[in-house]
Amino acid sequence: MKENGMITLRRIATLAMACLLSVMLMTACSMQEDDILSGVPADIETRLAVYTPTEIKADLSTLPQQEQDVVAKLVEAAAIMHELFIEQACPGHEKMQTVLAGYKGKQAEAVRAYFNINAGPWDRRFHFESFWGDVPHPDGANFYPLDLTDAEKAILEEGGHGYDSLYTMIRRDENGGLIAVPYSEYFKDGLTEAADLLREAADLTANASLSAYLKARADAFLSDDYYESDLLWMDLDSAVDLTIGPIETYEDGLFGYKAAFEAFVTVTDPVESERLDKFKGELPWLESVLPIPDEHKNMNRGSESPIRVVDEVFTAGDTRTAVQTIAFNLPNDEKVREAKGSKKVMLRNVMNAKFNRILTPIAETLIVPDQLDGLAAESFFLHTLWHEMSHGLGPGRIVKDGEQTEVRLELKDLYSTIEEAKADAMASWDIFKLQPKGYFDETIYRQQAVTYLAGLFRSVRFGIGEAHGQANAIQFNYLLNRNVITVEDGLFRIDVEAFPGAIESLVQEILMIEAEGDYAAAAEMVEVYGGMSDALGAALVALEDLPVDLLPQFSI
Ligand SMILES: [Zn+2]
Repeated sequence: MKENGMITLRRIATLAMACLLSVMLMTACSMQEDDILSGVPADIETRLAVYTPTEIKADLSTLPQQEQDVVAKLVEAAAIMHELFIEQACPGHEKMQTVLAGYKGKQAEAVRAYFNINAGPWDRRFHFESFWGDVPHPDGANFYPLDLTDAEKAILEEGGHGYDSLYTMIRRDENGGLIAVPYSEYFKDGLTEAADLLREAADLTANASLSAYLKARADAFLSDDYYESDLLWMDLDSAVDLTIGPIETYEDGLFGYKAAFEAFVTVTDPVESERLDKFKGELPWLESVLPIPDEHKNMNRGSESPIRVVDEVFTAGDTRTAVQTIAFNLPNDEKVREAKGSKKVMLRNVMNAKFNRILTPIAETLIVPDQLDGLAAESFFLHTLWHEMSHGLGPGRIVKDGEQTEVRLELKDLYSTIEEAKADAMASWDIFKLQPKGYFDETIYRQQAVTYLAGLFRSVRFGIGEAHGQANAIQFNYLLNRNVITVEDGLFRIDVEAFPGAIESLVQEILMIEAEGDYAAAAEMVEVYGGMSDALGAALVALEDLPVDLLPQFSI
């Protein structure tokens, strides 16, 4: 029954894709190559050049040969996540890629490369506007049917029937109704292949915690139940580390329900990780002094919050697209977080590359010369670290109108933006709270302010159509509005004295939006501060010739 249903569904899905693509393909087939390429922005090569090719290397030579073989298997499994992600992100991607592959010439090469960076023909730096063809980007990517009516959106918004599950694709059944298809069915072939590779790696490795995690993750791919494997991921104690599966929900711009496939293959630096582990002991204290009423503080989150500092070996899927991740905090499942806390993973080799190749040139272009001495790699690292720690602080599961719910479910499509703004602002707040406790000397105030300012420009350049970019626009405009950031002859100055107080106000406002699950207040914050102010626009123009991000070149 199920199997037959699936065949029908697949057929319907294929037909839907064919319809969408027929517009693009009819145009493509009836035009000459020159005509097609004239539909591509003239600045496509400039757009491509903002992603500067950068070698990302990790030293595997200290690993025994056996564990190096494990890494090779994990990279193979990770590569499958990339294929699954493109299916989630881009309706009709196969046909588009076929058409693209037929083009020749220099500009065609740029279009292909840009298509790969964006996982589709829509520019992630510019609100997903089309850079090739004229098919508008669907808010729900390929997670939902493209022809959803308003009535159907309301039904999906209510949830139930698997509609609001992290791990289902929404498709139409044979009667045209909506149906939630579990990832394990929809992506059966790819997930089975990836599961086999994880099991092979599990048999190869000498590390028991890695072996147990890989086996459980393989099972999860086929059952859509990630809970057990998330717990085991928290317990991983291995030089070789893997984060893989359907994880973040940023790609679902319609409801923020659906998790996108991605993978990080990394190797751990145990010495650096241990140095940082001491910070975790401060998390309960920081939660207790958050600038909100006690009733909203969440003292039940797990106290076990390991920090890992790793070097990236290979990435795929969601995280490989457009802007490269420098750190993450997982798992997202609140049940796992309450049982085990969450794990912060800092991608050290990526972070170093970004400080040198992106952040330093930005600061030199935009910040007043007499503040440049505040720019510090250590501050960039600390802010990123505390950004990740801050995702584990503040409201997560909340009570609204007497009902248990989660901030994520209440803030829906705005959740990612609000949560990223919280983590960023709170990162500075955490560091200032900890300074008097002796963790940092007083130069941290100046270093943090200047490096944070450079970091805001760096992130807004990601595009305000993306959660992290918009979150940074909110912070920039909030501080500009309060004269904590000022403009002098096209250069920017940050008021080092006023910064800690202003950032606490912002943290407080965001935490109350989350504590009350207040969608309207979140929308107002995004509306008032999330846009491109004149000052911000002018700053971005000054940065036009600098690379925005890295295009990672992995050596494996
Ligand atoms: Zn974050």
